[in-house]
Amino acid sequence: MTIQETFAERHPSSAQLHRRAVRAIPSGVNHDARFLQPFQVYIDRAQGVYKWDVDGNRLLDYVMGHGALLLGHSHHAVADAVAEQATKGTHYGANSPKELDWAERVVALVPSAEEVRFTMSGTEATLLAMRLARAFTGRRRILKFEGHFHGWHDYALIGDRPPFEQLPQGVPDSIRDGMVLTPVDLDAVRAALERDGDVAAIIVEPSGASWAAVPLPEGFLQGLRALADEFGVLLIFDEVVSGFRWSPGGVQELAGVLPDLTTLAKIVSGGLPGGAVAGRRDIMQLISFEDRQRKIIHQGTFNANPLSAAAGCACLEIVKNPAVQKKADDLASRLRAAMNEILTRLDVPGCVYGESSTIHILLGVDCPEAKQGDVRRPNQPDAVLKAGPAPKLAQHLEMGLLNHGVHVFRSGGFTSWVSEPDHIAFTLEAFEQTLRDMRAEALL
Ligand code: PMP
Repeated sequence: MTIQETFAERHPSSAQLHRRAVRAIPSGVNHDARFLQPFQVYIDRAQGVYKWDVDGNRLLDYVMGHGALLLGHSHHAVADAVAEQATKGTHYGANSPKELDWAERVVALVPSAEEVRFTMSGTEATLLAMRLARAFTGRRRILKFEGHFHGWHDYALIGDRPPFEQLPQGVPDSIRDGMVLTPVDLDAVRAALERDGDVAAIIVEPSGASWAAVPLPEGFLQGLRALADEFGVLLIFDEVVSGFRWSPGGVQELAGVLPDLTTLAKIVSGGLPGGAVAGRRDIMQLISFEDRQRKIIHQGTFNANPLSAAAGCACLEIVKNPAVQKKADDLASRLRAAMNEILTRLDVPGCVYGESSTIHILLGVDCPEAKQGDVRRPNQPDAVLKAGPAPKLAQHLEMGLLNHGVHVFRSGGFTSWVSEPDHIAFTLEAFEQTLRDMRAEALL
């Protein structure tokens, strides 16, 4: 049987739900990254590192809530906090002590955070950070980097993927005027800032694009900080994925480089919906009612809702201990090294690499460094790393791994605090079998 035939055979109920779904939901998915041909699996429940699909298959999960679940699925501290809060009300239309507790925790953990404002997603956080930067500096444009992802609002989508100069469908042409796009190169940033005196802020994924799929050059963040200071431009770190994952204080704590504003989501709200902008008091104060002439507008029905606040507090209480990140990091590092050993032994072109608790699987590209064990960055052009495996390889890798009980996210994924060494052994077995299955179909 082929990978796809096995996939169809193992997932009849998911297939049936998919047939219903495409009549009500475009392509049957509600997030582009969940799209899988011929269909995506349907999950019934999840606990710890596992999910169980509607056909009763147990899946070892590396999607981990798109990176939101550093504590794994339904960690009891988070689940209990949410359950308790649900009985006490889910929206007060007023303040709750929990949201203050939550805010103080963010300020305590994120080194550059003096004040914080909650949103409902990472997309909303980058939208708000950009608006704050424009209002604070009185300038019009935001500089962003080719391939860096900051959510799906119109400004953020400029240059998100190749071809970088192409305006994404449905994004108004006028948006171009609000953005400056450069390659990940300090000389290019300097040239852009010299050319254009109307730049309010630089926004960057401080892990490098797509949670370290394309790591930044050494010293890049320090260089950006210096350029931002020289030109009087604000620096925004988008730590939606890296926040509380790279360290309790995110990349900024590890790199020792402080941005003016930080955008957060995912782990900040314990895996429930939520996001935040945190940063310098003088900038954040533009949201306050101190100066009504200068005040910027920010609303959102579900901002800092009690459920997300409860989950966020419970989660931050645990992840403030760096042992949490260290455990997830160590397991990811062991996993990357052991997966590379398999690629080398089977003589499959590719490499598994990453930073922190992330893994990225590149297939179909010769990477000699796979022989070295754990790899931070294969010696490949940025475009190759950003693209990942060719679509057919990526699709069969995901299906093949699902057939063997492992769910990856965009040819990679995240380990969590509840990952254990025996999960690694299971993953390695599934990876090796999947590569053999792919080879049997002459895909590799
Ligand atoms: N910024 C980064 C770096 C992200 O990875 C994401 C989502 N993965 C976002 C922003 C958008 O966050 P959300 O999906 O919560 O809108």
